[in-house]
Amino acid sequence: MALPTPRLELRDLVCRFDGMPVVDGLSLELMPGQVTCLLGPSGCGKSTTLRMAAGVEHVTSGEIRIDGQLVAGPGVHLPPEKRAIGMMFQDFALFPHLTAEANVAFGAGSGSEARVRDLLARVGLADKARKYPHQLSGGEQQRVALARALAPRPRVMLMDEPFSGLDNRLRDGIRDDTLEILKEEGTAVLLVTHEPDEAMRMADQIALMRRGRIVQQGAPYNIYNNPVDSEAAGFFSDIN
Ligand code: ADP
Ligand code: MG
Repeated sequence: MALPTPRLELRDLVCRFDGMPVVDGLSLELMPGQVTCLLGPSGCGKSTTLRMAAGVEHVTSGEIRIDGQLVAGPGVHLPPEKRAIGMMFQDFALFPHLTAEANVAFGAGSGSEARVRDLLARVGLADKARKYPHQLSGGEQQRVALARALAPRPRVMLMDEPFSGLDNRLRDGIRDDTLEILKEEGTAVLLVTHEPDEAMRMADQIALMRRGRIVQQGAPYNIYNNPVDSEAAGFFSDIN
């Protein structure tokens, strides 16, 4: 039986700046509906990996495939809008001059009023559709950003510490709601975080990164219980 095609496949990815490898031979596969957390200390290359997948950072060597289609590789570089991806970054701002509804519609394209209403309802903002970003809280703005990113039905959602600007009280609710919606949509998720507890809470699969490489990969429970070395163990030791 043929194996299912990964939604996102990163193969032997390398990204160098001035000859220095920031991502240094990274391979990873994301299956449909799966949440993969790229977890590691600050500066280890997480955001650069995500940005290469998004098409906003150059790939020095290696390949990226989305649903089997080569989007980056030798002689190939599809721009972000030609990749079936959604993006959510901590400071990925909404359009300030557009209402919540219009921000989501921008992502959805024309003829998508029902989709926009449905998404706003699912992120819990049906009654805020006509508000402008400055009339919404930080958490509500992130909910609109999620709805906007999901509007064109991306195959892969790329998220770079999207919850780190929110206070703790809000964060848990948004994390859980976001996961639920992404699971319903069957979107594969690559979530970058430097917080082990966020990865433990959200991931089906954790890829532990250090100095541009994946040093351990597996289910959260396995990584937590069998860290590959003392540095990995120390990284998880703060979780309660
Ligand atoms: P992380 O997200 O894991 O904190 P990044 O991927 O943002 O790490 O950065 C990894 C390393 O690459 C850092 O040392 C950073 O300074 C460097 N880096 C990132 N982008 C650039 C760039 N455009 N030019 C030069 N160095 C960069
Ligand atoms: Mg980063």
